[in-house]
Amino acid sequence: MPKQPYSGFSSTAIHGGHETDPRYAHLVPIYASSTYVYDTAEQGMRRFSGQEEGFIYSRWGNPTMREAEDKIAALETLGLDMEVKGILHASGMAAISTMLLATLKSGDKILSHFSLYGGTEELINRVLPPLGIGAEIVDLRNLELAESVLKNDASIRMLYIETPANPTIQCVDIEALAALAKKYGKIVACDNTFATPYLQQPFKYDVDFVVHSTTKFLNGHGTAIGGILLGRDIELMNDRVMKVHKLLGGNSNSFDAFLVINGIKTLELRMDRHCQNAERVAQFLETHVQVARVNYTGLASHSDFEIAKKQMRHPGAMLSFELKGGLQAGIDFMDKLKMCVRTVSLGTVDTLLSHPASMTHYGIPKEKREKYGITDGLIRMNVGIEQVEDIMADLEQALA
Ligand SMILES: *Cc1c(COP(=O)(O)O)cnc(C)c1O
Repeated sequence: MPKQPYSGFSSTAIHGGHETDPRYAHLVPIYASSTYVYDTAEQGMRRFSGQEEGFIYSRWGNPTMREAEDKIAALETLGLDMEVKGILHASGMAAISTMLLATLKSGDKILSHFSLYGGTEELINRVLPPLGIGAEIVDLRNLELAESVLKNDASIRMLYIETPANPTIQCVDIEALAALAKKYGKIVACDNTFATPYLQQPFKYDVDFVVHSTTKFLNGHGTAIGGILLGRDIELMNDRVMKVHKLLGGNSNSFDAFLVINGIKTLELRMDRHCQNAERVAQFLETHVQVARVNYTGLASHSDFEIAKKQMRHPGAMLSFELKGGLQAGIDFMDKLKMCVRTVSLGTVDTLLSHPASMTHYGIPKEKREKYGITDGLIRMNVGIEQVEDIMADLEQALA
């Protein structure tokens, strides 16, 4: 990409990836066209053989999707002396699937942490094993343990990290883990959904791939499901990864790309407010008599406070807290919320709360989920950008 006449985060979020429209539209149009035409058969041949740049078929990409891809790639590498290529997907899961299937083969294993997005965990545990791809799941905050696995298990091909992770907001040290993985010649992938490129840039370290569910903070308004896969080896991305992506068919579409582009323009403004509010809410909850514990990496009481401080601009907008009264207290609390919204997901402008024990993790045996820190009274919260006084007042009356 050519050098840009700006260097700020919002400037990049607003202008990054934008190309002047041939018909002078201010914003990139929603290209609702499945296919692209050729002036001559010869031009068609040149496009297909890659001799000529140009769009062919929207499963492979189109101008609206391209702007979203280039914008996110610019943000993930802002201030770093490098380029990455992004491929927009139908969902975060589609982006993760393309990455795993493009890089792993039967006999390979993934090394990961036990606190992972539920869908990723199921993909690793249910979909990949019949293909001969296995996994070692350990506590990656224990670097010695991570190194011993990397060193002793030659079948491990990829280190897959997600930080901060669901729903306990645990963080792992990207720099230290990537360095260990590289020492033993492994691929490193990082899910940066919770942090966004505004709070954390995994490519600063030796990470090969970054994935996002753009459904969350990048879109920011909960209007579309989407994902992106970004990779630093441009040749690999254009070749093997693109081939697998095209054939798996987990492509995005122009409408959702347009929504993500719009959302990203206010990412910095939104994140600053999300973060400020989250800090206030965490402090408020920490002193509340009904609350046993608050998991927020901005609090010195969180075990990963130092890691978060080292690799993130701010600890972010996600937190969880534990009610003293257990399961029934969790259900009662959820029922009493008046403004804050009872739902799963995250990254939207409104405050969202979920109760894993009665919702997302309902089917998981209590002993098993408690091992992962998902206790009966745990509430997960995406702190929104409403007036923080209104958020705290709603929590206060629901806790009463
Ligand atoms: C939501 C989420 C995903 C999956 O993304 P979808 O867009 O729902 O497919 C992956 N990782 C994390 C951390 C998420 O929060």
